[in-house]
Amino acid sequence: MINVTAILETRANVRAARQAGKKIGFVPTMGALHDGHMALVREAKRRCDFVAASIFVNPTQFGPNEDFARYPRTFDADQWKLEAEGVDLLFAPSVEEMYPAGATTFINVDGIGDRLDGRSRPGHFRGVATVVAKLFHIMDPDIAFFGQKDAAQLAVIKRMVRDLMLPVEIAVVPIVREKDGLAMSSRNTYLSPEERRQATVLSRALRKVEKSYLNGEQDSAHLISVARKVFSEEPSVKVDYVEVIEADTLEAVPSAKNGTLVAVAAFIGKTRLIDNLLLNA
Ligand code: AMP
Repeated sequence: MINVTAILETRANVRAARQAGKKIGFVPTMGALHDGHMALVREAKRRCDFVAASIFVNPTQFGPNEDFARYPRTFDADQWKLEAEGVDLLFAPSVEEMYPAGATTFINVDGIGDRLDGRSRPGHFRGVATVVAKLFHIMDPDIAFFGQKDAAQLAVIKRMVRDLMLPVEIAVVPIVREKDGLAMSSRNTYLSPEERRQATVLSRALRKVEKSYLNGEQDSAHLISVARKVFSEEPSVKVDYVEVIEADTLEAVPSAKNGTLVAVAAFIGKTRLIDNLLLNA
């Protein structure tokens, strides 16, 4: 695995692979890698000839009172995991490399970018869209791999790619979960044992909604109340949102159909977790 921190060197390596006729796959991450990330890497390996991953904890997608400073950083372990999966290049730039002094250009995906996490975390998707666009320009991948775990992020990125005519295919990988249903997340390491137990409420609420839908309930307000009832059984968990929405626009729909997105976010103590499912998909 080639280990690079400089943009120019990354470009040179990717260009050489492309000139050798290789299909380029790209997996952007913030590190603290778990099996969810590795599922993206494996899918990239399956579909591409040259796989690049990035590790960059992007400051512009964190709010002033969020966890940028304490976000888990496990670079050595991450490196070994990527190497073991046969990743060809790891790009791990500094903040200065990605945001040269005086950088003032940002990408806003209006509408979508202000929904779900964009509403709860103002400016979050402006940071995400900007860094992903930069990474795409550096890597110039044929296919970029993202997790269904971050459903709102996916909608933002797909819209940006479409609107800016970026020449990249966005591939989506299903959510990887722990045995008890909790969606894998780098932030799960923040949870105390008691919080870790409470955290299963997100996936339990989603499963209950799915069951209700499969039993014939389509009314969104009712499906939302089903989820909220499950959350109410864990009174110390603070619900941020429960939404029944159209996956591409993140707009609320009055009634659910196959493929409708159910998305939840909640605070377990100080830790904000998200999860979602596509109904009968
Ligand atoms: P992050 O490092 O949290 O920014 O995530 C990097 C990529 O991994 C994003 O495309 C996420 O959607 C994806 N990802 C994170 N957790 C999971 C998971 N449990 N299952 C599938 N993909 C995931």
